[in-house]
Amino acid sequence: MKKLEVGILGATGMVGQRFVSLLEHHPWFEVAWLGASEKSSGRTYGDACNWRLRDPMPEKARAMQVHECDPGANAGKLPQLMFASLDSKVAGEVEATFARAGHVVVSNSGNYRMEADVPLVIPEVNPDHLALVRTQRHERKWKGMIVTNPNCTVIGLAMSLAPLDHAFGIDKVLMTSMQAVSGAGYPGVPTLDIMGNVIPYIANEEEKVEREARKLLGKLVDGTVKPGDFAVSAHCNRVQVEDGHTESISVSLKSKATAEDLIRVWRAFRALPQERDLPSAPKHAIVVRDEKDRPQPKFDLMTERGMATVVGRVRVCPVLQFKYTALSHNTIRGAAGAALLNAELMKSEGYLD
Ligand code: NAP
Repeated sequence: MKKLEVGILGATGMVGQRFVSLLEHHPWFEVAWLGASEKSSGRTYGDACNWRLRDPMPEKARAMQVHECDPGANAGKLPQLMFASLDSKVAGEVEATFARAGHVVVSNSGNYRMEADVPLVIPEVNPDHLALVRTQRHERKWKGMIVTNPNCTVIGLAMSLAPLDHAFGIDKVLMTSMQAVSGAGYPGVPTLDIMGNVIPYIANEEEKVEREARKLLGKLVDGTVKPGDFAVSAHCNRVQVEDGHTESISVSLKSKATAEDLIRVWRAFRALPQERDLPSAPKHAIVVRDEKDRPQPKFDLMTERGMATVVGRVRVCPVLQFKYTALSHNTIRGAAGAALLNAELMKSEGYLD
């Protein structure tokens, strides 16, 4: 099969580097174009990018030229499919310019996630929400489209709640996060602020978690998403961990269940990406650890190539009904891997034809 050429907007950043790395041997997609800010454009990727991943920079990408993120300046030479990991200060305008010019923008940034006509998708949770692009193209008169994946802190929460919601109904949720420094981009949080410290504030993060979780678990009714009918309260903290967001979650359900029922439902969870065997799909989207002190980022982060949500410590909560710990990789499943799986879902649904 001839591979589909793709571009990356924001290719030099933390998430952009993950895209370059995850796409190196992708069976369906091939990186043909890289974009970043004015300071990087005109340079080779090897020169412009401060590569921060342990896997080496792919040789092909190293030699590629970085371009400015302007579809007009690159007219006729750009791939239709653009993965986007732009600084949110510029993502709104740049992504819209590309969508207007006919590109399919699969975005990581928060700018459009909560727009009523923009799909916010986790392929295992709400693949049907992709249909919102019909309204989007009609109302915005765009030749292309924008599809988004959630904030990195929402992934572990929404993924672990979705099968519980389906089986028992969710009533209330309380989540406290311990978020990795890589979640703040590069160079991110200053060393002197984070070393030996916990920062109990991440701008706008709690609001994003609360809003996005309800949209993701919402129902698509008559072309709009009716948000999930449950309350979510989030406490977000930055901790001195390189990668991986760990979350302590308490939940109350609408119907009766035991802790064993929750584990059974998670272990049985299979969704569209698994059924279709999409290239980036984890075999098990949720992996349950039985050890009393897991999951931990140090040991469990790369479960299923960083694409699984790992849960453990399921027990009764005296305030809500149950409590557990969830872990997910913030720049893989919480960012580049999430967008990649969204694009694979879109291809398998015919949105990229
Ligand atoms: P980052 O490391 O700061 O990278 C930002 C990227 O945007 C760089 O490639 C940068 O290019 C580019 N850029 C900045 N200004 C630009 C401009 N005026 N025109 C074109 N490109 C410009 O940030 P990140 O952590 O990768 O995050 C990228 C996006 O993904 C953000 O919206 C973030 O909220 C979201 N996100 C991040 C994570 C995470 O865990 N890090 C998770 C989920 C979502 P230069 O190198 O040339 O400046």
